[in-house]
Amino acid sequence: MILDEILNILKKKSKRIAYTIGKEKFTYADFYKYVSNIYEFLEENNKEKKPVIVFGHKQVYMKAAFLACSFAGMAYVPVDDSMSEERVKTIIDQVNPEIILGEINGLKSISKKEIYDMMNKEDYKEINSISMNPEDTYYIIFTSGSTGIPKGVKVSYSNLDSCVNWLKEITKVDKAVILNQANFSFDLSVADLYLSLVTEGEHYIIDTDDKFDFEIIFKELKNSNANLAIFTPSFADLLLLDKSFNQDLMPKLNTIIFCGEKLQNKTVEKLYSRFENLQIINSYGPTECTFAVTSVEVPRDYKNDIPAGRPKKDVEIYVVDENLNELKENEIGEILITGKSVAKGYIKKVERNPFISYKGEKAYLTGDLGYFKNGDLYFIQRKDRQIKYKGYRIELADIENNIQKLKNVEKAVVVAKKDIQGKVKNIIAFVKTSEDSEKILMELKKKLPEYMIPKIKIVDSFPINSNGKCDENRLLEEI
Ligand code: AMP
Repeated sequence: MILDEILNILKKKSKRIAYTIGKEKFTYADFYKYVSNIYEFLEENNKEKKPVIVFGHKQVYMKAAFLACSFAGMAYVPVDDSMSEERVKTIIDQVNPEIILGEINGLKSISKKEIYDMMNKEDYKEINSISMNPEDTYYIIFTSGSTGIPKGVKVSYSNLDSCVNWLKEITKVDKAVILNQANFSFDLSVADLYLSLVTEGEHYIIDTDDKFDFEIIFKELKNSNANLAIFTPSFADLLLLDKSFNQDLMPKLNTIIFCGEKLQNKTVEKLYSRFENLQIINSYGPTECTFAVTSVEVPRDYKNDIPAGRPKKDVEIYVVDENLNELKENEIGEILITGKSVAKGYIKKVERNPFISYKGEKAYLTGDLGYFKNGDLYFIQRKDRQIKYKGYRIELADIENNIQKLKNVEKAVVVAKKDIQGKVKNIIAFVKTSEDSEKILMELKKKLPEYMIPKIKIVDSFPINSNGKCDENRLLEEI
């Protein structure tokens, strides 16, 4: 399995570059030393093998810690430091870890300095066994939850192994430079984190926080000499705003894998016109099914609606009606996934559990509406109030519940404003409160990550539609 392959690669202790971030480059030999030292620490200090919180922002110790946990048979929980303190605490409360790597205010944790001192010890021990079993939880990634508290998705070693082997098959990369966009607390990053390792490639990190600095990012893109990138369509659209995002900037870029949002023809057209030797792969899947479960190579000059693609061979995808009856080709229903990619579940109980049993197998009911045509899956839209904004998965109810908990707030309704293609342009919170909008924003920023902060509009009342429900369309008309 992949950990055996990765350990064999690490043990070569080669001078090949494994990880690049900013001006720093780390070889596979460096990386093995870091992993081994952290592994030894974890074996001594986490005897019960509780999940380990790895806190930070794309530093090399995070990736080394992920692997150290995996070899030691412990699940890891990646938490990006851009997350607000309160949200981090809700995650820690759910995980109840013995070890937190990376300092978090007010909590017993191992500081970055302590981690660097520990992982740079030259007299490290070799790793001689892998304690992770196929059905063990490999990582726990938290996503937005409609109750206002993030949900932790437990992904097994066997889930990840299947994902990474499939990525190897569809990309055919070997010793390539693989670009990273997403921070490690999003499952998009799982693809580049592991594809780079199993193919002995260079994982090239670009810093894409919310203060998107074109000059820095374009310099990094140029220096990377990357062959492969895993992007959300929103991120590619942002890069395409600048004309210099083209083959001259990235002469070796030959593959982009998209996932996470609907890929639009406009994005594909622009990319193909600027990159002569590029292949674009579209893929689809939720965190609960380990990065992605379908793929398709999008041909040049493709004019029709872009499909999500065909299922990977060890999953079955069904389109079903409300009673879970399987629908025929071209019939629209909810997308349901069974097979090797379906994760173990959430770490805490959720109100309506989308992990169900279907035809005697564990299944995940996605909440996505779609249909099959000529064997390809097409995504239409969500059934519920989950959205994608700038590539991030957000439950509007998560924002709403967090506003509602603020002092002096009577009611809040959060609405996504979309363009004709259905892409979210803005999130707006209509709030009835005696406070002003600045105060609401300030309090909300303590609770939610930056990308979830809506525009605030204070209202005296909420319009009602014929069903007696809040009329979101009329609210949107008012702005
Ligand atoms: P996440 O867990 O952040 O990966 O978000 C999963 C959700 O993103 C899915 O349930 C879909 O709603 C959406 N999604 C993922 N891939 C695609 C795609 N290729 N096209 C349209 N929507 C997608």
